[in-house]
Amino acid sequence: MAGALSAPRRVALLGATGSIGSSTLDVIARHPDRFQVQALSANGNVADLLELCERFQPEVAVVADESAYAGLREGLRARKLRTQARAGAGALVEIAGDSNSDTVVAAIVGAAGVSSTLAAASAGKRLLLANKESVVLAGQVLMRAATAHGAQVLPIDSEHNAIFQCLPADGSRGGVRRLLLTASGGPFRGRSRQSLAAVTPDEACAHPNWVMGRKISVDSATLMNKGLEVIEAHHLFGLSADCIEVVVHPQSVIHSLVDYIDGSVLAQLGNPDMRTAIAYGLAWPERIDSGVAPLDLNALARFDFEKPDLEAFPCLALAYAALRAGGTAPAILNASNEVAVAAFLDGRLPFLAIPELIEATLSALPVEPAEDLDVLMHCDGQARRKAEELLIRMGHA
Ligand code: NAD
Ligand code: MG
Repeated sequence: MAGALSAPRRVALLGATGSIGSSTLDVIARHPDRFQVQALSANGNVADLLELCERFQPEVAVVADESAYAGLREGLRARKLRTQARAGAGALVEIAGDSNSDTVVAAIVGAAGVSSTLAAASAGKRLLLANKESVVLAGQVLMRAATAHGAQVLPIDSEHNAIFQCLPADGSRGGVRRLLLTASGGPFRGRSRQSLAAVTPDEACAHPNWVMGRKISVDSATLMNKGLEVIEAHHLFGLSADCIEVVVHPQSVIHSLVDYIDGSVLAQLGNPDMRTAIAYGLAWPERIDSGVAPLDLNALARFDFEKPDLEAFPCLALAYAALRAGGTAPAILNASNEVAVAAFLDGRLPFLAIPELIEATLSALPVEPAEDLDVLMHCDGQARRKAEELLIRMGHA
């Protein structure tokens, strides 16, 4: 096989200790002839990172949290590993952008991933993009950098991966009428707004179909995840908000669809397991085994579809409004959502106050044109401070 004979892809995996990180390593471990782990990163979870270093023997391991550096260095030494220890946001940017790897998996959660994601795009690498917040915050800057430097952006978010698979391979959009993003509806689908007043973080994180990190799990419960994905789809595929629709599909087997003007609708289906999208991105344009079980259509009794309930889940409408407002509005949306979700997970903010805090932050700050990363990062910081301030003012200190 051609893939097996050529040199292995050298992969830098940012966010290795997370849910996407571990699914990525599961796929990589199935194909040692094709992929070599060049670098791994974590925020501060040294114990897990050391275990991964032992297993995958990367050249470099990075902790974003500098206070974890000594533990990483000593742990590598104690295990007699040759992996070099590094720390800090600058080290993340370096491993994403240096020439030691040809493939970067952007699997950090939140806007904390934006600089490294952008560094990979600016270095012209193959970029497996899971870190959707960086696209929401800086989609235009990111896509421009990818085009200018010849980076291959392969979406790992399952909906965008599905759409990527259903669009013409030459990048043309002729004949595309709409993108249809499917949403599971999350753990609270079908519930009224009033019934959600006292839901707990653990209830919000108990997703019916997917096992994911806690931040994206809360986003799925509020439907902000789908809102972020609408903005992500706009940047990745160059279509306006009017051409991107959301349909609730509780089984999470149809990962998304493309509707063409001749009436054809193409969909990508599969079991809800992120390893399919990751394997697709790693091996593209080839196909490799991902470890995901074949889809058993006979065992699936039915496919259901319904409209999203915007009254119970206003975050989706807030995201559409931010995309239509443009400029820095999506950055404000994303930053205030990160603050709200962290406060909810800490037990400081009730579930229904998440959209209230985001809306209040969006109303409090002006929307400005957003041409470069400095403006966006400034806006991100300002929106976080404003959201924290409003959190206290709303009585949720
Ligand atoms: P997770 O919380 O399980 O893992 C996050 C990873 O990022 C960890 O390795 C953590 O150490 C690292 N990290 C956290 N904060 C950091 C910081 N400040 N600086 C550097 N590193 C930091 O999250 P996840 O579920 O794997 O999601 C990762 C990204 O992928 C998110 O953007 C999410 O929206 C996206 N995504 C996830 C899934 C999924 O199934 N989990 C699906 C689609 C998209
Ligand atoms: Mg998704």
